[in-house]
Amino acid sequence: MAIIPINLQDGSLAKAADVIVGIDLGTTNSLVAYMKDGQPYCVKSADGKNALVPSVVHFAADRSVVVGDAAKAKLVSDPANTIYSVKRLMGKSYRDVAGLQGFFGYKILDDDTESLVKIRVNDRYFTPIELSADILRELKRRIETELGQPVNKAVITVPAYFNDNQRQATRDAGKLAGLDVLRIVNEPTAAALAYGIGLDPAQTETIAVYDLGGGTFDISILQIQEGIFEVLATNGDTFLGGDDFDQVVIGLFANQLGLSDADLATDKSLGQEIRLAAESAKKTLSGADEFSGSVGGKPVRITRAEFEKGIEPLVRRTLNCCANALRDAKIGTEKIDKVVLVGGSTRVPLVKNSVAGLFGKSPFDDLDPDEVVALGAAIQADILAGNRKDLLLLDITPLSLGIETVGGLMDTIIPRNSKVPGRAGRQYTTSVDGQKNLKIAVYQGERDLVQHNRKLGEFILHGIPPMPAGLPKIDIQFIINADGILTVRAKELRSGVAQEIDIRPTYGISEEDMARMLLDSIAHASEDMRIRGLLEARNEANNLLHAGDKFLQQNDTILSEVEKATTKSLLSALKSATETEDKDLIHRAIEDLNAYTSPLAHRAMDTTIREAMRGKKV
Ligand code: ADP
Ligand code: MG
Repeated sequence: MAIIPINLQDGSLAKAADVIVGIDLGTTNSLVAYMKDGQPYCVKSADGKNALVPSVVHFAADRSVVVGDAAKAKLVSDPANTIYSVKRLMGKSYRDVAGLQGFFGYKILDDDTESLVKIRVNDRYFTPIELSADILRELKRRIETELGQPVNKAVITVPAYFNDNQRQATRDAGKLAGLDVLRIVNEPTAAALAYGIGLDPAQTETIAVYDLGGGTFDISILQIQEGIFEVLATNGDTFLGGDDFDQVVIGLFANQLGLSDADLATDKSLGQEIRLAAESAKKTLSGADEFSGSVGGKPVRITRAEFEKGIEPLVRRTLNCCANALRDAKIGTEKIDKVVLVGGSTRVPLVKNSVAGLFGKSPFDDLDPDEVVALGAAIQADILAGNRKDLLLLDITPLSLGIETVGGLMDTIIPRNSKVPGRAGRQYTTSVDGQKNLKIAVYQGERDLVQHNRKLGEFILHGIPPMPAGLPKIDIQFIINADGILTVRAKELRSGVAQEIDIRPTYGISEEDMARMLLDSIAHASEDMRIRGLLEARNEANNLLHAGDKFLQQNDTILSEVEKATTKSLLSALKSATETEDKDLIHRAIEDLNAYTSPLAHRAMDTTIREAMRGKKV
């Protein structure tokens, strides 16, 4: 067997000709960039015009998938099969996104649970990870066409406020798209790098990154010291962006045309036409004082002054967020050395001027604001590739570390390429009523099933006080010290029982083994994702079967015979679905059961409350 050299600093396979690309996986638009003759460069579309790939995925009736401009064109004509803003769902549970259904034109399953959201397109169910992978595949295709060679390593950016779940979901999407994600980088950090900020280790500075995109606004305050970027504070509004500017213009145009919201909602193509005219007016006004065009054959016009009057309250909201971020970081605007503008909407002159006014200095805006994050990601990729000898790389974990969860799944706690020393943790619970002991098995590797990873050790947390399944709170911490020793600590938070072990993850594993494990994980990503999806669906179904049986027992007198019989038959349909390999079938059975039983559950709850109140005067 050939020996593949591996770069232990970052866990990558050292091969000179390898290109590592930088990817901005945005809510509205995504881009891919790479280093060309020492400069970062965003890959353009085939016609050479546009580097932006709209983050939209469309599923056609023949099940084919299209991504980008062609998919965006389907937003109005085929909303149920056109997925946008999937980044908002990354790493989120149903409970996290409850209440957001109205925002999405497509179907998000809305069971009120902790499990990760799924999106239904006809009879198929997708995770946000799979949909993001579709977008990443499109970017991968673009760059491979441009370079005429395979590309399989990337740095991907995420908002600074993304939590561990959201970051892990982004890594998983990369893996599924056939990309080895060497690092997840914060978007504001990438934007700073694009301007060369932070590349001089001798310089200490504090910067503000103001990012106004299509649907989201983020302000980040960063402190850069010896080349390390620390996030001092983040703030923002997850529903404020260029789309809201478009709405202002749509309102003005509708007024001029004498159209109501209802008119626009009924006539979809007119609605689409006015939306496109509004966006184009907005963009024109970033460079000109007025815009005139036509909608439905009638003229519309708008001046910059009218536009600015309309968006002023929105811009003011972003400035309030900036003030909050500064307050959280405990610094005044005078302590901000540099301000960087990111996101297409910062091209609006009122936005630019307001930011300059607030911070009292002119912001960095020479680079294309919708490209800066991708450009910076390409620079970060270049640093990881070891092409910048002047920059020191920190010690990093070469493989992911995690534990086994229900069904033999690997749950990564410290992702590979994390900084050493470091720590991360997560909470778990029991799956059986009255469970007293919990086995914690620690693994290393990138595969979804622990059986394909390397077992580092295991221990048992004894003496959990008997409680119903799901009630104990077991906190698991992974602490890796400067010598690379991993301490795994488990503690049941209600009772305080605790247990820990020390492991040396790099003991007894060769560089060749590590390289093979990485390659295997990419090669098996789709199969792994399929099995993970199936196992997760089965776990969800098993929990529901358990809850369903309990529900029938407890509400025997409240439910009618028909209701009991129907619930039973839906439960047994779900049971048989779990015995198949078809995750979509399981999800459909879950949805059917939930749809039927949730009104019953509400009624049962009301009855129980009424009965509890009877005889008790309040
Ligand atoms: P995201 O980070 O959310 O993916 P982008 O940074 O790509 O988004 O920003 C997209 C937004 O920028 C859209 O609302 C788009 O209309 C807006 N935009 C692009 N160019 C201009 C311009 N010249 N003037 C004003 N807004 C613009
Ligand atoms: Mg962005």
